[in-house]
Amino acid sequence: MSRCTLPGCTRPTQAAAGNGHSARYCKHHVEFHRRHGSYWFRSLTAAELEPHRKAARAWIRGNRDDFRISRAISSIEGLMQNAGPWENAYSIRGRPPKERANFALARLRKAGIDPAVILERILAVAMCCEARGIDERQREFRRVQMAKVVHRLASGTHKTTSGFPLPSKYPRSEGNVLRHLGRRLDDIAAFALDGRSIEELVA
Ligand SMILES: [Zn+2]
Repeated sequence: MSRCTLPGCTRPTQAAAGNGHSARYCKHHVEFHRRHGSYWFRSLTAAELEPHRKAARAWIRGNRDDFRISRAISSIEGLMQNAGPWENAYSIRGRPPKERANFALARLRKAGIDPAVILERILAVAMCCEARGIDERQREFRRVQMAKVVHRLASGTHKTTSGFPLPSKYPRSEGNVLRHLGRRLDDIAAFALDGRSIEELVA
């Protein structure tokens, strides 16, 4: 039986086990990759991101006049404004990933999230990846992580008309919707950074 090609994994591939299509990876690793954007790196934690988030916020505040920062913020605003109508969680089920990426952006707009806060989060992810030694070869991971942190800004609990907070009915963030959203966010982060690292600028 064919084994998963990842070092140290002895599980059968999906194709061999008959639980999916992959002829290279096992079911566990296919699902891990779907959620985290990498076969081996776990998602960045809030605690890990925190110091980078603070540095990014200070940097954005101190450089609001820099055209790269102001253009990045207006690009994020543009994405949110042009994302189309907001729709409730039930109606987006089963829609194509590209549309669901737009719904995620429309949700941020509806929740009144400040585009500068979005920039702060995605720059924090870029910094954190750099600090972890995650390079350009793992850009899918970086993009998925950017989409996840941004997704999290507007997918918490929401109040019902009776005033009771209910857990979000939005689907768990995973899969291709994160790749679509992440690619757009990563382009904006790259523009804001313009080849520089934030550590370089803060220092
Ligand atoms: Zn495996």
